[in-house]
Amino acid sequence: MSFLLRRRNQIVRSGVLAGHAAGIIARSLQSELYIALVNLRKTARSYGLRRLLAELNSLGLQPSIAVDGLKTLAEDAARARYSASSYAQYWLAKATRLGSPDAASAATDARLSMIAETEAFEAFTSERNHAAEILAGILLLLGGPDEEIKLFKRWDAKLEACPVCAAADGTLVPVGQNFVQGEPGTVHPRCRCSWSLVKK
Ligand SMILES: [Zn+2]
Repeated sequence: MSFLLRRRNQIVRSGVLAGHAAGIIARSLQSELYIALVNLRKTARSYGLRRLLAELNSLGLQPSIAVDGLKTLAEDAARARYSASSYAQYWLAKATRLGSPDAASAATDARLSMIAETEAFEAFTSERNHAAEILAGILLLLGGPDEEIKLFKRWDAKLEACPVCAAADGTLVPVGQNFVQGEPGTVHPRCRCSWSLVKK
């Protein structure tokens, strides 16, 4: 996710140009990356929800899902705060040791990309699980004995999946429930798995 790296570079550059000490730069990194991460999670959430609605459509289902955003916002803020602060501390330790803000940035690229990827997938999955719980409730209300609609989440692992994710590939759980292995996209940092809807 190059956006976060670019944003980090802008902040460091303007701090260096202003003659700020590494500690001051680290503090603005913390607050600016916090905002960037909240936005990144927000984007990933709306993408996840749009994808879910498209999947429902392709299964011939069109329930309207109302999603309460407040709980979501608090969760995003907490995770973004934690990640921004741990990255800023890590960057500052590198800047102190290497004696150069630019070298600290280069040495922490991988960490920042990992945070961006992990947060995007976590938010994507979190939003879809939140919507799936609501969906499960709607199906319970709609489903009569004659026309029972059974929806499942199917684990879709990526080619580079870890052993846990690879073994979980194709596993089904009823919509609204969690996989025993953990939720795809959140099993480990950089997990790129997801689930898709299956109708039975
Ligand atoms: Zn995975």
